[in-house]
Amino acid sequence: MKAMTQPKQSKPSPREDDDMPPPIAGAEVVVIGMARSGLAAALMLAGRGAQVFVSDSGTEESLKSPVESLRARGIRYEIGRHTLDCLDHADFVIASPGVKADNPIIAAALQRELPVYSEIEAAFWLSSAPVLAVTGANGKTTTTAWLSAIYRGAGKAAEVGGNIGRAYADFATAIPPNARAILEVSSFQLERIDTFRPHVAAILNITPDHLDRHGNMAEYTRLKFRLLENQTSADHAVLNADDDIIGRWNLDHPRGGSHKWWFSSAQPVAPGVWVEDGLLKFDTGAVRGTIPGSDRLRPPGLHNQMNAAAAVAMALADGLSPAEIEPGLMGFAGCEHRLETVADVDGVTYVNDSKATNPDSVAKAIAAFSRPLVVIMGGLDKGTDFGFLAEELSRRSRLLVFTGAAAAKLEFQLGGRAPHRTIPDFAGAFAAASTAARPGDVVLLSPGCASFDQFDNFEHRGRVFKDLVTNLARSRGKPGA
Ligand code: ADP
Repeated sequence: MKAMTQPKQSKPSPREDDDMPPPIAGAEVVVIGMARSGLAAALMLAGRGAQVFVSDSGTEESLKSPVESLRARGIRYEIGRHTLDCLDHADFVIASPGVKADNPIIAAALQRELPVYSEIEAAFWLSSAPVLAVTGANGKTTTTAWLSAIYRGAGKAAEVGGNIGRAYADFATAIPPNARAILEVSSFQLERIDTFRPHVAAILNITPDHLDRHGNMAEYTRLKFRLLENQTSADHAVLNADDDIIGRWNLDHPRGGSHKWWFSSAQPVAPGVWVEDGLLKFDTGAVRGTIPGSDRLRPPGLHNQMNAAAAVAMALADGLSPAEIEPGLMGFAGCEHRLETVADVDGVTYVNDSKATNPDSVAKAIAAFSRPLVVIMGGLDKGTDFGFLAEELSRRSRLLVFTGAAAAKLEFQLGGRAPHRTIPDFAGAFAAASTAARPGDVVLLSPGCASFDQFDNFEHRGRVFKDLVTNLARSRGKPGA
């Protein structure tokens, strides 16, 4: 069904002249946003001789640490506002992923026809190590971390970053040319690329997320596919053969001319990697085989086998052998806050899936367990529809507990068929869940929503959940849990 051309495991091609970045030394650059990636871009560009000015509308209190770093390097900045004057002499602008296109300063820059780039674009200019990049609605962090574990296990030099851990700009200028930059890339970062060209790029899946920002699915899909737009025949794209949107978009909007690889849970794909009888099988076009033991991967669920399949396809495309791939693939234990088993208390397993911030990841979490569930959902709604989860949730759950700002919407969309309670306060919701659970059940925090209604971020929400589990275990006389 899919492209059958034999992929060459080619070396990344050198950069073409017309891909050349703007001159950096002496350039006047305005960086909008001082968070992790904005700060990293500012320091990187200043390190290459640019005159950098950083503007952030946040408060002095919240920006203490980046301000200290900027001061130490003598980089000029403003906080509490974006003054338009700073654009007067700018050669180009770097926008942090959190800054939306309708932000007045970005709108003003665009109106003046100033180029606006993302941090990953600028980091790419200044790095010669080939990039392996992962995007998608769900599974980016897991797949990126898994790929990095594979490279570590194979003894290959690689740095991991982007949307996970360190910003790309933090290590772009230091990474040796023969190493790999393994990046998690979000649709926000892809909004403002120009020449960014991963040697191997994966699009994991496209399901509704961030529609509050991107407006509609076509725009969201278009942004994800920008990952492939600069790829050449020396590069590889790894795509989900089970995902209708990816398949259709790939046919309707061919991109970049890279070799296409596929991964699937449903059928053999060539070149690519698929799940068959619980095992990962591969066909590189030249070699077919099975990865031994791959029916015992540590992160649970078919969706994690798909993440593994994508990571394996990326590594094969980059020229690693199956034997090199195996140790890191099998050793990887999963990421915190993603279907993370916290403890067993009185026969009930508590699972922290705080990173499930959209309905599709909730669907995957439910499918990863065969035991009865008590599911805690809720938080800040991102404009998505939960209705499609109703049937499966009612079939699988002993109780649904709706919490946070989205509680009423969830009750309306999901409460009709399943036993449920609506408790806006998070600790109260946890107490209701643990009281309802019976031995053999799983209490699953899989919110399907953002965390910012009650928490700093999803990590904070996950830590609060884990603390509640620890306190519960203590109160039941199990201090070691
Ligand atoms: P991302 O970085 O794209 O947000 P993560 O790896 O952090 O992805 O996982 C986010 C959430 O999505 C977690 O709840 C996780 O269990 C779930 N998830 C992981 N992989 C997939 C996948 N391939 N499809 C759907 N959901 C997934």
